Order: sequence, then C-alpha cells, then structure tokens
Amino acid sequence: MTKDYYDILHVKKDATQDEIKAAYRELALKYHPDRNKNPDAEEKFKEINEAYAVLSNPEKRKQYDAYGPEGFNQRFSSDDIFRGFDINEVFKNFGFDFGDADDIFSSFFGTPQGGRRRRREVGNDILARMSITLEEAARGAEKEINVRHIVTCERCGGTGMEPGSKLLRCDKCNGTGQIRVTRRTPFGIMQTITVCDKCGGSGKIIETPCRECKGRGYVQKENKIKVKIPKGVENGSRLRLEGMGDFGKDGAGDLYIDIEVRRDERFEREGNNVRYILKLPFNIAILGGEVEVPTLYGTEKIKIENGTQSGDEIVLKGKGMPNFRGQGSGNEIVRIEITVPKSITKEQREALEKFGRTDKKGFFGLF
Ligand SMILES: [Zn+2]
Ligand SMILES: [Zn+2]
Repeated sequence: MTKDYYDILHVKKDATQDEIKAAYRELALKYHPDRNKNPDAEEKFKEINEAYAVLSNPEKRKQYDAYGPEGFNQRFSSDDIFRGFDINEVFKNFGFDFGDADDIFSSFFGTPQGGRRRRREVGNDILARMSITLEEAARGAEKEINVRHIVTCERCGGTGMEPGSKLLRCDKCNGTGQIRVTRRTPFGIMQTITVCDKCGGSGKIIETPCRECKGRGYVQKENKIKVKIPKGVENGSRLRLEGMGDFGKDGAGDLYIDIEVRRDERFEREGNNVRYILKLPFNIAILGGEVEVPTLYGTEKIKIENGTQSGDEIVLKGKGMPNFRGQGSGNEIVRIEITVPKSITKEQREALEKFGRTDKKGFFGLF
C-alpha cells in the first residue's frame, strides 16, 4: 500500500520546512542502517528518505499535495522522486558522518553492489499494457486489467505448510541447517561445511507441504486488478502500481502499466490542447447562431458570431487535456470550416439569387 509521506515523517500536513527537517533528522539518525541493525531498518530508512526527498522540495511537495499518495506514486518514478536529492549533501549539511552513503542508496534502487547486506528477495516487477480512449485520458478512469502474476498462496498464507501441519526438525542436518562433507584429497581428509540441501539451511522441514502450492508458498494466478487512470495521462506514460507485481519473500514487485491513448477521430491532440474542426453551414456563418460541438467532457453549445469566416478559431477554455504533472488544463480549439451545400431547392436558389442582386459588394456575384 502507498504510505503517506507526512505519516512517515510524523509531521502535520501544514508542517513548515523546519519542522520537516527536524523530523527527518531525528528519524534518519534512528534508522540509519549503520546504526540500526534491525532487519526492517533499511526499508524504513528508505521510506524516510523518499518522504524527505519529496516534502523538502517545495515543487515536489506541491505535486504530492495535489495528487495524494496514490496519484503521486503513479505519476512519478523512483528516479523522479530522488532527482536532485543528494543524500550525502543532506547528511553533510546536518553534520552527520556516516561515510559515503552511496551504497545505501544503490540498494534502494536494487543495484547490486558490495554485497555487504543480504540480497533481498523482492518479487519481480511486471510490465503490462493498456489501451484507453482520449476521453478516458482526459477525465481519468477506473479500469480493470488481467494480470498473470505470482501471488502468496492463500491456502497456506505463504508458509508452504498444509493447514494443521507442523514444522519438524530436519533429519539430515539435525536442525543445524548445515552439513559437513568429508572428502579425501591428495592433501589429506578435507572437511567442508555446506548449507543443508534438504531444508535449505533453515534446519526445519515441513511435515506436510501445502497441497495448493506444493510447499512453495506461492502460486501463479491470473487476477483482475483495478487501475486508476490519472487525468491527463499521456500516450506512452508508464504507471506504477506498488506491490502488484510478483510475490517475493521480502515484498512483492511492482506492476508497471504502459498506457496507449488511442487516436480520437474527432480531436487532434497538441500537447494539452485539442483541436476540433467544425463544419459550419455557410448560412450560419453569415447570420450567426448557436451550434453544438463535441468536447472531451460532453457536448457544448457555442455561439457563432455573424460574419464568421473559414479558418476562424473559437477557444473553449479548460476543455483540453488536464496537465498530467501540474495544475490546470489545456483548451479545445474549434476551427471553423464553412461548408457549402452540393444541391439546393428551388426556393433556396431563388432566395440566393435575390441575395446576389442586392449584394452591392459583389460577394455573391456568381449568382
Ligand atoms: Zn537440514
Ligand atoms: Zn500453499
């Protein structure tokens, strides 16, 4: 689940920069992995830094306040969140001396380095695709997607044990998790210690493995997952759904969804603006009137001034695409294209001929 950055730092929504700084300082000292050997400390430390990277930056904080935790997380990747945030610089300013924090940071992004800490078994990320209409992109939508992923086995809750079954001491290693192997070599008898292959080093074996997952603790399953499409999403955007990827012992991977915004026959998208061509009968262009035009948010009545020309543009403010990473919306630009009927009735012809005779400027001199 997406956690609230304000909760993580234990500050109020209207906290000042000084309050945020003080809260971060205290928590960073408490959970720094070099000082705190609790296995959860690293994860906690990462959270604190992510929260601080956002809330200490007025621009990012504004976005976060506008979209809320979930919307923010969908719009911005880890790279976006940490962009411009230099933890070494932050620590230096606080007067902390933990040495170079780069290796801590690289572990945030899963870059294997050093091997100082146990490799975390986080599940794989999954990439899926979704196609949506321009209107859905404009208004935001809630859609479902079928995803085949590895999830915790429901029957055993991930333990791999058949309900009611017990954990027994491994008989191969006597519960030590290690086995000694004695080998005769040209240099004499060598003894090596290896991880027990029967229990995988845990020293315990399952009495009866779970029927559903055969003791693995996870199963592959196709699930319907609800996806909130944020307003203003662009073609080619990648959304992130935290923890919806594959199951892993130390947490699930993320589900990424590449969004394809389908072309709309009516509208041409130009950044956040959309263009629409209105085919306007020539008589309305001359006399003026009211016509309906489609917008991304339903039809809209617009007023046509008399004497409107082909190529004139009418701007419908705020009827374009919402700004994906900011406030406000683009406009719909209605471009007029005057149409002339291919055939007319006898009365219409007479009326136009009469108009032609009275037209001193000769506009309709053809008649
Ligand atoms: Zn064993
Ligand atoms: Zn199971």
